[in-house]
Amino acid sequence: MSAPLKQHLIDPEICIRCYSCEAACTVQAISHNDDNVVVDGTKCEFCMACIPVCPTGSIDEWRVVENYYPVEDQLIWLELPQQQDFSNDDEAAVGLDAIDDSIQALLDKAHEGAGGKAIAPQSASKPSINLFNLGNPLTAIVQGNFRLTDKDSNGDVRHIILDLGQTHFPVLEGQSIGIIPPGLDENGKPFLPRLYSVSSPRDGERPNYNNLSLTVKREPDGVCSNYLCDLEKDDEVKITGPFGSTFLLPNDPAAHVMMICTGTGSAPFRGFTMRRQREMPNVKNSLSLYFGARRPQDLPYFGPLNKMPKDFLKTEFAFSRLDGQTKEYVQDKIRTQKASISKLLQQPNTHIFICGLKEMENGVDEALSDVAREIGIDWAILRDEMRQDGRFHIETY
Ligand SMILES: Cc1cc2nc3c(=O)[nH]c(=O)nc-3n(C[C@H](O)[C@H](O)[C@H](O)COP(=O)(O)OP(=O)(O)OC[C@H]3O[C@@H](n4cnc5c(N)ncnc54)[C@H](O)[C@@H]3O)c2cc1C
Repeated sequence: MSAPLKQHLIDPEICIRCYSCEAACTVQAISHNDDNVVVDGTKCEFCMACIPVCPTGSIDEWRVVENYYPVEDQLIWLELPQQQDFSNDDEAAVGLDAIDDSIQALLDKAHEGAGGKAIAPQSASKPSINLFNLGNPLTAIVQGNFRLTDKDSNGDVRHIILDLGQTHFPVLEGQSIGIIPPGLDENGKPFLPRLYSVSSPRDGERPNYNNLSLTVKREPDGVCSNYLCDLEKDDEVKITGPFGSTFLLPNDPAAHVMMICTGTGSAPFRGFTMRRQREMPNVKNSLSLYFGARRPQDLPYFGPLNKMPKDFLKTEFAFSRLDGQTKEYVQDKIRTQKASISKLLQQPNTHIFICGLKEMENGVDEALSDVAREIGIDWAILRDEMRQDGRFHIETY
């Protein structure tokens, strides 16, 4: 088959037929009949002029296709078609990789610790992805940038809030955005975007404000992290995304979400926890967090996390550099909590999310394996089953 194409579509199940997208389209690619509003793939230039004016988000749909869906077909759709599966088609796979390949490669690498193809939780909301890219970034405005870690901490971790203005930029908890650092690399080319997990929930850092937050650690000589950590209020930032369609919070209130993280790996879990707090404050004993850092003063969001009711969020902090105390890592906490974790491993609604430093993967895997073995479960088999069921997720970098 020929190389795949990317087609912009409008979801007929969400669209309120206000035709604001049609008015905004600069190339007359959007039209409608009495039933549907549709996009002509042969005319659409991905200028994104239609995106911000849509009040529902029905416009945030893309499919990779062999041939564009014709307008005549779209006019009678009752729902959008599923994404076609190109996974067995080598030529198509090459073409797919060419689309946003650097970002996809980063995400694939971040998710590879799961041991196979990542799958979204069955009850997760449908994410929007790739709305803004290198050629068409969104300019956000910094609303605040404050240091989360103590002044005497080795790590400078920042909570940065970005105002998205009037632009529709839907993100789900667990998704990431790209940040384009200004300037040129050593080859005189613009820097590639770096990925950062969104640490606020889908309805904004402040409920119903069109903003989001990031949790950024300053890396020695790091281009983008230093740029971000030095930003000041009202500075402009070029962002791309959103990205990621699998590391997502299950919406099922019966799901138990076990979160394991180090450092800025806490970012998506802040989003998960805040979403649950806002949406399901009365669901008890369904969130647990295993969080590792050197010392309490290095642990982002330590204060607020500690104030959460224990029956809403069970927290286990592991510190590896506390004066006079034995070093403790997240995997040690998993072992000390084996009674509760082994119960969770046997429940079909348990979801495990691991996020943070790549180095944590092996230790956590071994600890889960030990806990499983004690109850006669082969962790490698269970982990595969959970992954295929959309219940086991790793994002490490
Ligand atoms: C899915 C995903 C989500 C992420 N989420 C977050 C998040 O929420 N928060 C967060 O802080 N980070 C996150 N990251 C990491 C982030 O994307 C960046 O990788 C990180 O901030 C470093 O980028 P940088 O531009 O500052 O560093 P770079 O300039 O890319 O450098 C990276 C490191 O390499 C070193 N280095 C650079 N050049 C050289 C050289 N020539 N020789 C030797 N060493 C060199 C630097 O000192 C630095 O420590 C995420 C990554 C992924 C993949």
